[in-house]
Amino acid sequence: MAGLYIHIPFCKQACSYCDFYFSTRQQLRTPFLETLVKEIRSYQDTELSEIVWQTLYLGGGTPSLLSERELTLIFDAVHDVFRTDFREVTMELNPDDVTAEYLNTIRDAGVNRASMGVQSFQPELLRFMHRAHTAEEAFTALQTLRETGFPSYTADLIYGNPQQDLKMLEKDISEMLRFAPPHISAYSLTIEPGTRLGKQLELGRLSPADDEIVARHHSLLRALLGDAGLSQYEVSNYAIPGKEALHNSNYWRHEPYLGFGPSAHSFIPHQNHAKRWKNRSDLKAYLSSEQGAFQEEAETLDLHTLAEERLMLGMRTREGVSLSELSSAYDYHLAEEQFEWIREQKRKRMIESDPDRITCTADGLLIADYLIVELLSRHSGEKKRGSG
Ligand code: SF4
Repeated sequence: MAGLYIHIPFCKQACSYCDFYFSTRQQLRTPFLETLVKEIRSYQDTELSEIVWQTLYLGGGTPSLLSERELTLIFDAVHDVFRTDFREVTMELNPDDVTAEYLNTIRDAGVNRASMGVQSFQPELLRFMHRAHTAEEAFTALQTLRETGFPSYTADLIYGNPQQDLKMLEKDISEMLRFAPPHISAYSLTIEPGTRLGKQLELGRLSPADDEIVARHHSLLRALLGDAGLSQYEVSNYAIPGKEALHNSNYWRHEPYLGFGPSAHSFIPHQNHAKRWKNRSDLKAYLSSEQGAFQEEAETLDLHTLAEERLMLGMRTREGVSLSELSSAYDYHLAEEQFEWIREQKRKRMIESDPDRITCTADGLLIADYLIVELLSRHSGEKKRGSG
């Protein structure tokens, strides 16, 4: 299932933890939209315009800053250029932009899944994260989503915040569950260099949450969401059955995706390799791009690299990875040493496997990145066939 991604690089203010690409210079919106439409139209009558694209994701930045006219401009360009049969059209929204009227507008434009950036309902945590919205606005936005009968939605929560104790997290989760969301993305707060929090860390004014505390947050989250029928299907994602995100699942399964706007990534698989590229992460440079020169980095990935990446992405999901897919699509075969290690992890209940599939258990997902590194490090690079 192929997916289109559009990055809207504007925000009202900078959240203290954010390292996505965005600008607060709203006066660049008009030139940005003109360039974005130019970029989309540059794919007219190409091989990629012939693919049937089934998901569309508007992320950012803050896509909910877009007016109806701006949104229509983007959607018109997408439908003019590409063959589309969208099963899922997601748009990220910040609670302070949400009104019933706005939800009806984006729904009429074709959005059928809202991604609400709640993060927390605690005023002090929202202030610490320098979010533009208040707790009341988050409640109202979720309530409005329900009242307008929006087709589907997901909400973001942040845990592992150094200012957050277990009680605060429990409160955030139970407030969120009052709205019976079909999907929740929960991210552990990481302190990235270059962000406000990163600077505070450098100055010694802040310490990240202890790993053990973050693990406790994660266990609480998993248990409470599980009790509410939202099961963890990826390290950061929980859904009631059938409401898993299609667009993000494309990324994990190595389906094609094509990104537009500054810092957007694209990935197009071919028979024995794949192409990946990234757009310029600088609005000014993006705006001055000549037609076809929006990219700043491009790479060709060989089958072995792709296989390792597929293992890495798959092991972060409850679906896991199929060994026959690894062998047929990537000519990658697990080595005997890897099978031995998998058997050991099965005994420790970190990994489950059957003859064709390896998957992290719920506990294994907690340390998925560590398990993946361990598994990959046991491959000699030679093609060896072992038995599960
Ligand atoms: S609204 Fe989103 S993209 Fe914008 S600064 Fe905050 S976290 Fe980053």
